Amino acid sequence: MIKQHFQQRVHKMYEIPEGLGDKQRVFTRMIADLIVFAYEQGYELTFGDAYRDPRVHGDIGVKGSYSSASSNHKRRLAVDFNLFKNGQYLTATEDHRALGEFWESIGGTWGGRFNDGNHYSLEHNGSK
Ligand SMILES: [Zn+2]
Repeated sequence: MIKQHFQQRVHKMYEIPEGLGDKQRVFTRMIADLIVFAYEQGYELTFGDAYRDPRVHGDIGVKGSYSSASSNHKRRLAVDFNLFKNGQYLTATEDHRALGEFWESIGGTWGGRFNDGNHYSLEHNGSK
């Protein structure tokens, strides 16, 4: 009985604050929920790009690398995950759907809606 209690997940819809710093900290907490959800569903993850340092990639609005000029990776509001199941690396957007829909259900923006399936972010000033 107790064990069952601890296995029940709280599926929390987050309130997304407006300010960048507050939003970054909520984003990080949400990513924790996404990671836990993924492993509960039998997936495993490694980090792809998370923060893209503007010293390398250019300030926001400046294209200094492969990154888009206004990428939310530069704002600490996006993470790309490499997805695995049963040891197999899954690369298709559709492979990410279960995680993407979970991410949306807690308040996030899933890149699968714009052909970037492994990208999990929070919208900020029109950037996703
Ligand atoms: Zn990304």
